[in-house]
Amino acid sequence: MPHSYHTHTAWSDGDTSPRALWEEAVRRGLDELGISDHLALHPAYPDLAWSMTPDELPAYLAELADLQALTAQSGAAPATGGPPGPPLRVGLEVDFIPATHDRLVPLLAAHAFDFLIGSVHFVGDFPIEAPPPVWQTLSEPARNEIWRGYWQAIRGLAESRMFDIVGHLDYPKKFTPPPTVDLRHEIAAALDAIAAAGLVLELNTNGWDSPAAEAYPAPALLEAAHHRGIPLLISADAHRPADLTRHFERAGALARAAGYRETVRFAGRRRRAVPL
Ligand SMILES: [Zn+2]
Ligand SMILES: [Zn+2]
Repeated sequence: MPHSYHTHTAWSDGDTSPRALWEEAVRRGLDELGISDHLALHPAYPDLAWSMTPDELPAYLAELADLQALTAQSGAAPATGGPPGPPLRVGLEVDFIPATHDRLVPLLAAHAFDFLIGSVHFVGDFPIEAPPPVWQTLSEPARNEIWRGYWQAIRGLAESRMFDIVGHLDYPKKFTPPPTVDLRHEIAAALDAIAAAGLVLELNTNGWDSPAAEAYPAPALLEAAHHRGIPLLISADAHRPADLTRHFERAGALARAAGYRETVRFAGRRRRAVPL
């Protein structure tokens, strides 16, 4: 039975409430649901529309705790009727930004989570999610340097040991072509750091619906991760209930082809393996 961990609600850039997402998880027969809204502290972008603010974090966690308590009651059934629903896992998708690291550490330490996803959405001040026309204003060497900086940031994310899961690895491909310089060394160093930190990699199916038309990460990176013994989690990065398990069958086949036979689940930031 599938589980879906990387999801967004109206607390960040999703279009629905945690409760509505959980009810969709019930309808789909998921046996666990994780919610992981965005928290990004970037000094150059203090008012990111897609992130909650640090001040909103306690209220977000309180709402998830209420839902967790409700759904954990013995025999609790969703409002729509039917069988008891899946346990809710409380998470957060956090940007790894060295400049705000010192603000982030106490903020995260003050709360309990089931899992933390670490993601890189910026290289320095450049937003990776900038649309293609913005990328096209950059020279080819400048684009290559962003790719290089991205892999270096992933290495830093892993070495920070703050997270449980590395989000949408290989992300710059969303809106820009692959680099035209050889970054094998930087990529290998990032994967080695992920393995050394005991981080879980997600196979993020959102990429199939992006202009890259490929999951994050690319198949060759997935194989390289498996080779290093890096555990895997399949995630939809859903921003609406309809996407909760998008492309999961395809992802399972891709993971198997890369050698994976297990995936993981989290509770209280401890993971356990389950058959793929
Ligand atoms: Zn993300
Ligand atoms: Zn996300």
